[in-house]
Amino acid sequence: MTLSASERARYQRHLALPEIGAAGQEKLKAARVLVVGAGGLGSPAALYLAAAGCGTLGLLDCDRVEVSNLQRQVLFDTAGLERPKAEAGRERLASLNPEIRVVAHVVELKAANVRAVLADYDLVLDGSDRLATRYLVNDTCVILKRPLVSAAIYRFEGQVMTYVPERGPCYRCVFPQAADGMVANCAEAGVLGVLPGVLGTLQATEAIKLITGVGTPLLGRLLTYDALELRFTEFRVQRRRDCAVCGDAPSITEPRDPPPPQRALESDAGVRRLTPRALEALLDPAASMRPPLIDVRERWEFDTGHLPGAVNIPSSELPQRVGELPRSGGPVFICRSGGRSLRACTLALEAGVASPANLEGGMLAWAAQIDPTMPVA
Ligand SMILES: [Zn+2]
Repeated sequence: MTLSASERARYQRHLALPEIGAAGQEKLKAARVLVVGAGGLGSPAALYLAAAGCGTLGLLDCDRVEVSNLQRQVLFDTAGLERPKAEAGRERLASLNPEIRVVAHVVELKAANVRAVLADYDLVLDGSDRLATRYLVNDTCVILKRPLVSAAIYRFEGQVMTYVPERGPCYRCVFPQAADGMVANCAEAGVLGVLPGVLGTLQATEAIKLITGVGTPLLGRLLTYDALELRFTEFRVQRRRDCAVCGDAPSITEPRDPPPPQRALESDAGVRRLTPRALEALLDPAASMRPPLIDVRERWEFDTGHLPGAVNIPSSELPQRVGELPRSGGPVFICRSGGRSLRACTLALEAGVASPANLEGGMLAWAAQIDPTMPVA
């Protein structure tokens, strides 16, 4: 795909970069990228990819523009209220760069349509705020062997990672099941408006790198961003041989809709609830009996920082490893913010563990109230 005179003029600053140049710009022109979710993340990602000359850009969203979106979804403006996001976004991107083709997908991704939608694209950016969509997109990218740049935001924090088939872990390797903390959506938890601007721009950066082949992609690394501390942190993550979709013997070989929501948390009668202060008292060296500590976070989270003596059994492995739990002694279950550990408590109760306890608020609460030096992933 050669560049026209008007394209050469538009992309001058790319052409001036030896690492990109005409060859890289032609690759961008030939690229077909799907942006899933025209929200806080999808807005900057799509704007920059359109500006950069990504030849075919798909924008997928089934929602309409609401006034509360405009605090962060910079693809839209007040005049576009009530319009389908994918349609309003397509017009904005086309006016930004008439050289490219923008395709609006006003659909909700489901197992039934995800293959057909993704089939037309070489690369996927996921900025969806729905957990079910996040897993569906990941699984389908693994199955169809499509690279995926995935990002998520929560309050003042965000994370991003890149998956390339055969070259590193997928999203499900890192989050085998819903991790607490990152799952509440923006409507419930609130989000700093500028936060997705940083993460969505990182997604576009990764996409441009993958398309042009420059630089080192974010493979096997989960990058987190804490806007309040203005700190980026990187976690090494590995492909799991037992990953349900990219592992050696995958159980997910076709896109599938998520199973019905997990058992409601009302069934936690019998679980003791410990505040960080109460746990601190139990762990006092002078206390007669220290309870066993079971940390159910994923290994990379555990390795970042954990309580002395804690045993790591990731919640994703707990159903298979329930036999390893101490039957007595009132084991205390710990996770990042208290959600996974509460589910682990109910599982332990069902398995006959006496008097399990949940650290309420998890390691985040522990770090906030007891030990500010404790690193929490
Ligand atoms: Zn995987």
